[in-house]
Amino acid sequence: MFDDLRELYQEVILDHSKHPRNFRHPEDANHEAHGYNPLCGDTVNVYLKMGHNGLIEDAAFEGKGCAISLASASMMTEIIKGKTETQAKTIFDGFQKLVKGEDDNFDAGEDTERLMVLAGVKQFPMRVKCATLARHAMSSAMDGAEETSTE
Ligand code: ZN
Repeated sequence: MFDDLRELYQEVILDHSKHPRNFRHPEDANHEAHGYNPLCGDTVNVYLKMGHNGLIEDAAFEGKGCAISLASASMMTEIIKGKTETQAKTIFDGFQKLVKGEDDNFDAGEDTERLMVLAGVKQFPMRVKCATLARHAMSSAMDGAEETSTE
């Protein structure tokens, strides 16, 4: 294990990376995007089922990569399911600022609270891209783009 990761590997990150939630390819998904983080080699495919009113009815992913990228995707799919596209993007923006150390006042709220475990990556710029890969891919999927890269 890398030294710089040791303190990031909290129980919840390990749990999500070993047992990712929503790790599947839903047949009725109507938005999807592929994301790639060349710095670490993380890849993710996100699948969303968007309703007529912008509601995210289902969110799932498949991919491989480091524990942080998998845990982030796992947590993000749980959090955005049942939200509207607008709500999800607000969460993404707050999360992005949090992990880049630009804003520590991320309003976690009840269901985004667990994203705080990823806040530690702000000390490790290389890891920020692992933590934000899923969020980039989900934004791309909502916007109708099919490819995204952290570069
Ligand atoms: Zn990674």
